[in-house]
Amino acid sequence: MIFDSHCHLQFPQYDQDREEMLARAFSAKINLICVGTDLESSKRAIELAHQHTQIWATVGLHPTEGAEGDIDISGYEKLLKMEKVVAVGEVGLDYYRTPESNKQVVQKKVFEKFLCLAVKNDKPVIIHSRDAGQGSVGVVHKDLLAILKNNLPPKRGVAHSFTGTIDEARQYLELGFYISFNGIITFARQYDDLVKFVPLDRILLETDAPYLAPEPYRGQRNEPAYIIEVAKKVAELKNEPYDKVLKQTSMNCRQLFQISFKSIGFMPFLRFFRHGA
Ligand SMILES: [Zn+2]
Repeated sequence: MIFDSHCHLQFPQYDQDREEMLARAFSAKINLICVGTDLESSKRAIELAHQHTQIWATVGLHPTEGAEGDIDISGYEKLLKMEKVVAVGEVGLDYYRTPESNKQVVQKKVFEKFLCLAVKNDKPVIIHSRDAGQGSVGVVHKDLLAILKNNLPPKRGVAHSFTGTIDEARQYLELGFYISFNGIITFARQYDDLVKFVPLDRILLETDAPYLAPEPYRGQRNEPAYIIEVAKKVAELKNEPYDKVLKQTSMNCRQLFQISFKSIGFMPFLRFFRHGA
């Protein structure tokens, strides 16, 4: 069993062949966390989760989508209470696509609102982060960590598509957060030590599909079936068996998002009883 802890199955990139793309993932025993990026895409994520047993949904607002600060927070809260909705996110700060400091102030306020929503509803939070570029490296994590520490942080969360430093990773880990890696680690060597540093029981795997396809698919449309390339890279860097990486990261994902397979797990028990009778 494998979990792709962050993908956008509802995006238009899959409108022509969504069911085929999902079939490829399901036949490889890949379970999917479909991440919302605004109210509409969160609704679409929930629809997909309700159509497929192997999909769960999250409800969030990508920082670049919430620039106006005028958020229908009760609309998000309604969605958050629906069946198979497992997290608030993605939310966070993106200084790359929002370089204006007045808009960054708004982003921080919006992020705080969603943190409150996560705490109130006892949900983990999926955090998006991106620095403005060279010369401002580290600013975004400094701001995110300050907000997390100043507020009552959600008990659980993940720093998604993490490309920060080892010291920043350590601070998220200390807050109880998981660190999530995707295709970036297959084609950029500067994160090798970071992957080695984060303990396997605190790592999540993700594709961030349709973006960031791993090697050997780099530059193409990404899809959840390619998650195995990320798993292989983590196994190689940590010098751990591939199966162990799959097992542990799946367990991490289920723990963070509180996913249980009660109905599935119960069936062998029933069968045993029928045979016994
Ligand atoms: Zn994403």
